[in-house]
Parts: sequence; structure tokens; C-alpha cells
Amino acid sequence: MVKLRKLYHSNFNIVLKGVIKMASNYESVKKARDKRRSQIVEVMGGKCAICNYSKNNKALDIHHINPKEKSFNFGSLGSFPNWETTKKELKKCVLLCANCHREVHAEMLED
Ligand SMILES: [Zn+2]
Ligand SMILES: [Zn+2]
Repeated sequence: MVKLRKLYHSNFNIVLKGVIKMASNYESVKKARDKRRSQIVEVMGGKCAICNYSKNNKALDIHHINPKEKSFNFGSLGSFPNWETTKKELKKCVLLCANCHREVHAEMLED
């Protein structure tokens, strides 16, 4: 019985360590995303191509000028392939603030 309890205890520790590791991984993924986001915004000129908004880069989106040329989706600037691929893709895009981005898409739907 004592043996079993010990076993259980060590398992619990392993699980706990796993949880802590996962949490810190999540933190570093988040940091990497933030870093990549600022990199992208910087490469793209740092402001909305329509209204020059530049206050908060979290409100800036990547818009594909020609959706047919889209080879991957930037989504909310979440996960990306490597930086070289990202840069290539960015050549097909413009930087827009969330507002202008919505307006552009609203107009695209009207066509
Ligand atoms: Zn704008
Ligand atoms: Zn768009």
C-alpha cells in the first residue's frame, strides 16, 4: 500500500511539472507572437494604409490585396510559418487598421 501511494505521489509530481511546463510554454508562445506581430507591423510601415492609424499595433491587420494569391491566412497575426515565408506573403498584403479592414471587406462583398 505504501509503495502504491509513493507511486501515485511521484506520478502526481510528473503531471504537475507537465502543467507548469505547458503554462510557461504558453507564455513564450505569446511573447513570440507579440514579437512577430511588431516585426510584421514594422515591415509593413507601422500604420494603416488608408487612414494612417498607428496607435496600437494590436488593432492593425494584414489584408491580402488579392485573396486568390493568399497562400496562408494571417488570421489575427497568431501563428506563422518562418519569417522568410511570412515576408514573401506580406508583399501581397497591405496593413490596415481593424476599422478600414472591415470597410474594405464590406465593399468587397458588395461587388
Ligand atoms: Zn485605417
Ligand atoms: Zn482582409
